[in-house]
Amino acid sequence: MPTLVMKFGGTSVANLDRIQRAAKRVALEVANGYNVIVIVSAMSGKTNELVGWVNETSPLYDAREYDAVVSSGENVTAGLMALRLQEMDIPARSWQGWQVPLITNGAHGAARIEEILTENVNKKFDEGMKVAVVAGFQGISPEGRITTLGRGGSDTTAVAFAAAFDAERCDIYTDVDGVYTTDPRITSKARKLEKISFEEMLELASLGAKVLQTRSVELAMRYNVKLRVLSSFEEPSDDAGTLVCAEEQIMESKAVAGVAYSREEAKLTLVTIEDKPGIAASIFGPLAEAGVNVDMIVQNISEQNYQGHAGGVTDMTFSCPIDQLKRAEKALTEAKEKGLIKFDRMEADTEVAKVSVVGIGMRSHAGVAAKMFEVLSKEGINIKVIATSEIKISVLIDRKYMELAVQALHDAFELDKG
Ligand code: ADP
Ligand code: ASP
Ligand code: MG
Repeated sequence: MPTLVMKFGGTSVANLDRIQRAAKRVALEVANGYNVIVIVSAMSGKTNELVGWVNETSPLYDAREYDAVVSSGENVTAGLMALRLQEMDIPARSWQGWQVPLITNGAHGAARIEEILTENVNKKFDEGMKVAVVAGFQGISPEGRITTLGRGGSDTTAVAFAAAFDAERCDIYTDVDGVYTTDPRITSKARKLEKISFEEMLELASLGAKVLQTRSVELAMRYNVKLRVLSSFEEPSDDAGTLVCAEEQIMESKAVAGVAYSREEAKLTLVTIEDKPGIAASIFGPLAEAGVNVDMIVQNISEQNYQGHAGGVTDMTFSCPIDQLKRAEKALTEAKEKGLIKFDRMEADTEVAKVSVVGIGMRSHAGVAAKMFEVLSKEGINIKVIATSEIKISVLIDRKYMELAVQALHDAFELDKG
């Protein structure tokens, strides 16, 4: 029998009515002849509440216990969904990550999936089960502890199941009816895309578009999973939503396909460091060891012979996720105390946001960066840091201008027009 994966996000299972509505969707696909694997998130707001409880109890928490607590929201929705389906006379049962089992590495809080063993679930399908309801976001480590896959991780659970069970498709049901040119909450001019390439979706997700977890897109690309994003609130139709697919399946690509943003950024500057070989390594080594994900980096122009320094001196600025700022400051302070690096002082800026334009068309269109900088300049928005790759340009700006920047860029690149 063909298999289908259907993932329901937090708002799609936010209460019993919504779970019933989602179950009806599942019933339609069972009637269409599929064995269905349903991946559920926790009810919306639940994971935030659980994270809050952990932080309140233990600010420097044991990550294994964090996972034990934070994974629990999905257990509730998985059980409720299975019960609802049973009430509809559909043979269904729930599975927690460890029961499948979905095996991850031991990186608690951001674990990576290593393997999904399909035997137990397949045996139940062979015995007549129609729907396996799986708690998303969670797995089991080699040490036998519960792990979670990082925020938004149910998307990754879904794609990984689609790959492991060779599913015909992986449908991600959420609170928007597809992937848009930018977050539709920021501008009403955002336009729904019929298709988007894996590469562009990967960049958008990693630059902050929360509609899919980055890792889920990576997996879909690697295993060529047919991935669709659609709304659980709209009537079913064959061409609903957005298909995330290989580049070749997209006829024509504009220079810019979408605009992404991330509010959760911080900027840190080390003032007056020596300008000589090995300095960058001595700064970013301790940061890497402390698990800080450094993103954008700039080294300022060197000043010669400043305040008695024999060679030149410079400043080094980098950005990282705001929740890693304290860890970054601690790692650099300790490295300074140990005499591994020298700097006069550290300046943190927690009021920044990152705005990025993404498009595979950039490979063949010149002038995208120039246009982006001009648009921001016209709005009077100062750029603090710039980073580019083949298919994206990101800038770090004051957070208060973030929405304005997204809207202005969306207009300037005419993303509202198909
Ligand atoms: P779920 O709980 O279903 O996993 P999420 O909140 O994680 O849903 O993701 C859906 C949200 O992603 C949307 O409500 C929307 O605000 C946001 N979003 C950000 N960028 C985009 C985009 N380019 N297209 C669609 N949605 C986006
Ligand atoms: N419930 C988890 C979260 O809010 C996982 C998910 O919904 O994908 O991050
Ligand atoms: Mg999500």
